[in-house]
Amino acid sequence: SVQDKNAHSIPRYVRVNTLKTTVEDVIDYLKREGYSYQGTARRIEDLRHLSGKMFMGDVHLRDLLVFSAKMDFHNHYLYKAGHLILQDKASCLPAYLLDPPVGGHVIDACAAPGNKTSHLAAVMKNKGKLFAFDLDAKRLSTMSTLLLRAGVTCHQLANQDFLKVDPLAPEYKDVKHILLDPSCSGSGMVCLPDGGSEEQDGERLQALSAFQLHCLNHALRFPQLQRVVYSTCSIHSQENEEVVSACLEKNPGFRLVHLFPEWPERGHGPLTQCLRASTTETLTHGFFVAMLERQTTPSDGES
Ligand code: SAM
Repeated sequence: SVQDKNAHSIPRYVRVNTLKTTVEDVIDYLKREGYSYQGTARRIEDLRHLSGKMFMGDVHLRDLLVFSAKMDFHNHYLYKAGHLILQDKASCLPAYLLDPPVGGHVIDACAAPGNKTSHLAAVMKNKGKLFAFDLDAKRLSTMSTLLLRAGVTCHQLANQDFLKVDPLAPEYKDVKHILLDPSCSGSGMVCLPDGGSEEQDGERLQALSAFQLHCLNHALRFPQLQRVVYSTCSIHSQENEEVVSACLEKNPGFRLVHLFPEWPERGHGPLTQCLRASTTETLTHGFFVAMLERQTTPSDGES
């Protein structure tokens, strides 16, 4: 199928866990094992030509190394030791773009299995507070293992419905950043059996989209919130641009941030501030990212 062909043409991305090592050390280690480092890619197109043991630094994200589609690091020492996180490039965008400060208070609203949580912790240099919620106990236990291996220590895991987390509770009074990566149709995931299929059940999409909007509206209720990043691995506007537009309509105090000007694939319709990712344009899974920011008025901070 077309889908399978696309899956083969997507390079393999590996995020270097800067809580445990550096990009330079990983490159040296791999070179000693016979991998051949090709330098940093200058254009997305460069990533199409990787084969065998060749690898490159990514065009956009500094902590990302790129390998040929056939490479598999699941049994590699650096993966088992938590130095490498096996994470598609598109799914590295949310934490990178949210860019919470070292020492900040951050919520990862739908966090399991925790790849974005560990990325947030790396950006925060393991300092501050990272509140991570998930409804699914089993996924949360996988997540504990993953975070332990990755050396993350600034987190607090809770088996809790994010929609029931009280934004006014004292422990969240300093939360300025939220990453919201809620359940979605997964239609952008190329390795799923029906990934990218056009035959999504309309009712299911409707329910997902209502849930996603509910979560996004809830995130904006945290009193000190400055920015929220909303992401899905869906290709459906109903779960992406339409959720963001409905949320902005309901929350006039927030606006979209124009993300990553050099990123080639943009949100559909008028929402060009947002990012899209795809197998064909960005050589990643299908993905969507938006960032909403609280509008500041000249009188802010004076009252
Ligand atoms: N951010 C994760 C990562 O990068 O590893 C992936 C998150 S996955 C797309 C969505 C998660 O949301 C699932 O683990 C699911 O259990 C969780 N979830 C669904 N509804 C939720 C709710 N109401 N509150 C908290 N978590 C929820």
